[in-house]
Amino acid sequence: MTSLSKPKIAFFDFAGCEGCQLTVIDALQTDIDLLNVVEIVQFREAMSEKGDDYTIAFIEGSYTRFSDKERLIAIRDQAEIVIALGACAHLSGINAIRNLQSTAEVRRYVYGDHAEHFDVSLAKPISAVIHVDAFIPGCPIDRQEFVRAVKALLQGNLPDIPDYPVCVECKLKENSCLFWYGKTCQGPITRAGCGALCPSLGTGCVGCRGLIPSPNISSFKQLMSEHGTSEAGIEAKLKLFMTHEILKSEASGDGN
Ligand code: SF4
Ligand code: SF4
Ligand code: SF4
Repeated sequence: MTSLSKPKIAFFDFAGCEGCQLTVIDALQTDIDLLNVVEIVQFREAMSEKGDDYTIAFIEGSYTRFSDKERLIAIRDQAEIVIALGACAHLSGINAIRNLQSTAEVRRYVYGDHAEHFDVSLAKPISAVIHVDAFIPGCPIDRQEFVRAVKALLQGNLPDIPDYPVCVECKLKENSCLFWYGKTCQGPITRAGCGALCPSLGTGCVGCRGLIPSPNISSFKQLMSEHGTSEAGIEAKLKLFMTHEILKSEASGDGN
């Protein structure tokens, strides 16, 4: 196979900590064979070359500036497949917490007297701006899930992301439930795929992979309350990674 026949992929970053890109670099170090079957043409975190000829685009980070729209559209126009990489791109992640305050106040708080010079919009997942073919959830992404996703794409398939809760993986690992030990955990409403990483280490899931489809939020709140979490505490835990999803379900439009 010549390099010309390899699918060309590119990585892009918007508002995020770049931890998902670092996870990709980490994954490529242990699954280096992937570099024999794809050609990376743009990946600011890892290389200085900057090719604009690609068919698969991985986008990390949230839309947070009006000017992001033009860049996202250009990526969408070029790529045959666009993948949201990580919670910031998939759900606007922790960036969405600032949507709970007015954008003008947030901008003034961060930039002070220079606020008017900075382009700031509501934080949004990239799917709110362009069509996204698939997502790889998590904060950061799971490196093995990323490798599986690339292999699926090379076979002409989209990544197969679980739609069942973390509790399923936790039970398969035969973990004792943390609720029995006075801890709380968002596993019942959070999308699986991380192998129940946090509960397996004795720490409650904080929901970084987002909600499962049709979560029973009211039952989950009741469970948390029965285990001693205040109403404010429950809201705070839910909004760490799920602000966008919760606001979206509460509102009829997304506004801007
Ligand atoms: S999802 Fe998490 S690790 Fe990835 S860019 Fe956003 S904050 Fe960083
Ligand atoms: S520890 Fe969390 S993920 Fe595991 S069974 Fe209990 S609630 Fe579910
Ligand atoms: S257990 Fe929850 S918080 Fe931890 S990695 Fe999995 S989805 Fe994210």
